[in-house]
Amino acid sequence: MAEEPQCAACGSPDLRAHLRVAGDMGDQGLIPTTDRFGTALSDIVRCANCGHMQLARMPSDAELESAYSDAASDDYVEEEAGQRETARRMLARIEQHAPQRGAILDLGCWVGFLLAEARERGWREQVGIEPSAFASSYARDRLSLDVRTDDLFNAPLPDGHFDAVVLGDVIEHLPRPGEALARIQTLLAPGGVAWFALPDAGSRVARTLGARWWSVIPTHVQYFTRDSIATLLERHGFTVLETATAPKAFSVEYYLSRIEGYSKPAGRALVRGARAARVAQRMWAPDFRDRMFVIARGGGQSVPGRAMSQPWPDSTPSDTSAS
Ligand SMILES: [Zn+2]
Repeated sequence: MAEEPQCAACGSPDLRAHLRVAGDMGDQGLIPTTDRFGTALSDIVRCANCGHMQLARMPSDAELESAYSDAASDDYVEEEAGQRETARRMLARIEQHAPQRGAILDLGCWVGFLLAEARERGWREQVGIEPSAFASSYARDRLSLDVRTDDLFNAPLPDGHFDAVVLGDVIEHLPRPGEALARIQTLLAPGGVAWFALPDAGSRVARTLGARWWSVIPTHVQYFTRDSIATLLERHGFTVLETATAPKAFSVEYYLSRIEGYSKPAGRALVRGARAARVAQRMWAPDFRDRMFVIARGGGQSVPGRAMSQPWPDSTPSDTSAS
């Protein structure tokens, strides 16, 4: 029937029980949400070879596709100032490595704030792919961006064209992230770079909170560490250039309301308190050091698998922890 499950990062079949978090999807289905913590679609297993964590049982493509095409959330529109601030910071990092401010592709661009900021910063061409009808039409109609409503990895795009391909909060949702990296390799221009932002499951916060970590949510199927994302990238011919923490700027109200995922009364009381103190709309970029970005250069040769007896060494030269 199904193939032998393997580690999505290194390919090892040695996956061991790690967190018991299987639960119901809830009456909202698979809507991307950050207000339910400690529940996933199945239990989480950990790779004994490289430390990568992933769901023991991956949801079907059909399950995921229908869920994401219906996705709509006001959070990321209401939080426009924070999203744009985060995008500007990340573009500045990408520009240090990209060959030029040429063509940039945002796979899973949501409403398009990063592309809008790239346009402001002088990138010549900005293209986005977004499966959500709500988010992609917002990008086109409100921000006049070239954003197409399509599947992230099957949309028709020119090969060898993009100086930068960005995936913000995408790769942890993919049952087969290696196929996504192979596709990105074909899209990159010579010297082009890929940028990823994702939760860091090897961070101290993630390890301390375990199943109660706020990134353990029904739509996350991969739990990368700095080592396991590097392993996956290198297997697919990428050279990791930079890895660092990636705090997200949001309003105080947004963060406090997330606490409702643990305790509704506590979260609501904190939001009321912040509103009363008139700090609710202040921007805040707390760095829990549990979210990372990785910039990698494409162009190398893929290797089918990599035997590792040890987790990746911590002293990787590209592993700068600067934030
Ligand atoms: Zn592994």
